[in-house]
Amino acid sequence: MSQKKLPKDVVNIQKPLIKAPRILLHICCAPCSTYSIDLLRSEGWKVTGYFYNPNIYPFEEFEIRLDAAKQYSEKVRISLEIGGHDNDQWEVAIKEYAHLGEGSRRCRECISFRLENCARLAADLKFDAFATTLTISPHKNSKTIFEIGGEMGERYGVRFEPYNFKKKDGLKKSIFICREHGIQRQDYCGCRYSLKEKEKVRKERPPKNS
Ligand code: SF4
Repeated sequence: MSQKKLPKDVVNIQKPLIKAPRILLHICCAPCSTYSIDLLRSEGWKVTGYFYNPNIYPFEEFEIRLDAAKQYSEKVRISLEIGGHDNDQWEVAIKEYAHLGEGSRRCRECISFRLENCARLAADLKFDAFATTLTISPHKNSKTIFEIGGEMGERYGVRFEPYNFKKKDGLKKSIFICREHGIQRQDYCGCRYSLKEKEKVRKERPPKNS
């Protein structure tokens, strides 16, 4: 039986009319990605994750966080790009400010290092935009992150989307999703300096029932 060919215009109608814009989401860890992915999807983005965190120390911790990000990405069916653990280069980038605490210039350089790499990849892979899960943390200044993201976006010719994921109880929602999926939340930011700082706080904390 010969099959009739559809006229060209009918064939075109069957194509999706609107293609979802593609966003490359820099993922610092699985817990922070949970609510961030949901929000972006609810706003019509096709999300691809990018795990790029050469700051994480020790390497075993890097592997644990990467593994959790992989598992969660598979669960929610997003593609995940994975960057290398360029820890030596990262150390050079933050060296001058290493002695400063969390929230200082050290973190600004650390975030710049990671977002520059993300912007470059987003431009190379022709994404419509990029964003970062880092803004969900109450310890991170979203305004600073937006400045860095905007600067990197301009440098590489790709739009930075200034999502402040901590808004509208984003952090609480992410904690809830983590409980639902049995995702472990870490108790220090990631670098060896933040680990030391956390250990110091732990030591100085008076023991319970004292
Ligand atoms: S505390 Fe966090 S943001 Fe700051 S330098 Fe360390 S890993 Fe980077």
